[in-house]
Amino acid sequence: MGALPENWLASKDRNTRLRLRRTGLAALDYVVMCVILIGFAALGTISYRVPLILLGATLLINALFLSLIASGWSRRWPDPSLTAVQVFAACAVNLAGMMMAPQLAHVFIVVLFMPLSYASLHFTQRMYLAIWLYLSVAVGVAIVATGAFRNVADHNWAGQLLFWAVVVFTIGRFLSINAVVSRLRLDLKKKNEELQSATGKLTELASRDELTGLWNRREFMRLLQDEARRAARSQTSFCVAIIDIDHFKEVNDKYGHLVGDAVLHELGQLLEFSRRATDSLGRYGGEEFTLLLQGARASTATVALERTRNLVAQHDWSGIAPDLHLTISAGIGAWHPGDTLTVVMNRADSALYEAKNAGRNCVRTVAR
Ligand code: GH3
Ligand code: MG
Ligand code: MG
Repeated sequence: MGALPENWLASKDRNTRLRLRRTGLAALDYVVMCVILIGFAALGTISYRVPLILLGATLLINALFLSLIASGWSRRWPDPSLTAVQVFAACAVNLAGMMMAPQLAHVFIVVLFMPLSYASLHFTQRMYLAIWLYLSVAVGVAIVATGAFRNVADHNWAGQLLFWAVVVFTIGRFLSINAVVSRLRLDLKKKNEELQSATGKLTELASRDELTGLWNRREFMRLLQDEARRAARSQTSFCVAIIDIDHFKEVNDKYGHLVGDAVLHELGQLLEFSRRATDSLGRYGGEEFTLLLQGARASTATVALERTRNLVAQHDWSGIAPDLHLTISAGIGAWHPGDTLTVVMNRADSALYEAKNAGRNCVRTVAR
């Protein structure tokens, strides 16, 4: 039995689910209230007609709210939870109860605080004022019309006026405190959103290299760790390449550090442009870059790095310095199931060492 509403609820988005639950709970409040009123009817204080009419009205009104929320219709409103309308309607049901059973007017006044407590959730400042004025007038009219407190308040008008003042003041105070809670809640929600966005930006900043905008060494190693886990699960392999600029020290010595920085930045963009979408590129440190070639065997990685090496050798660097020419050397290390990351990085490192020894501007691979 419980599975059907649960499945039906699960098919709604999170906000709609919350709104439906809250509206359902509010309806339940009134069912409990009507059960208590049936108790008064059993005592002979009121007629059974009163709780039954109120229960019918409440269920009808709440069914209407539930269908407006569930159908998504209420989303057109500034307050899709319909909190304000629900609070107004619940107060109206209460006031109707007070008119039908003046002998229980004090009970209905106490119960008014039940829907009013929902006001702390979504009310705007204007809504607080509106509900307070509405209740002040409506309770005043109900007191006069039903004469409910004539006996309690010593038979005179002044006594009833004072009682009315107590109700109006208490409801006003209750609502003003709710308004503070509501404002705090909204502030907290806004701060939370700001915090989430700032955390996202910080995480992004903390994982990027400042000069090139590529992944920094720490983030690259994290990506490598993820790839090793993925490859172990799917029984595939991957390769890591260390790319090092040849004689970069001479670039710095000849053109200065700022030109060296510009070269690093432009090379970063060139490598980023030439990588496959699934591969990850990082700046390992200094003039060394690292490339993770996802799912690639040593042979595929070698072809890819040869293409990149050619691209760099043929690149026109005159935008940075007129007679600048640049080459890179790359060492590729292959990963096999059971290998640690240190093993694969060491393979790439020795491959790079081989490439430098072989005269630079070339690619070497250490498969095992
Ligand atoms: P090799 O072909 O053997 O790799 O020679 P190399 O000159 O490239 O290598 P070496 O390790 O001798 O020098 C690397 C240079 O990279 C030294 C250092 O000043 C420079 N470098 C490291 N980081 C940066 C940086 O962020 N900006 C600049 N402009 N230079 C850097
Ligand atoms: Mg180096
Ligand atoms: Mg170098």
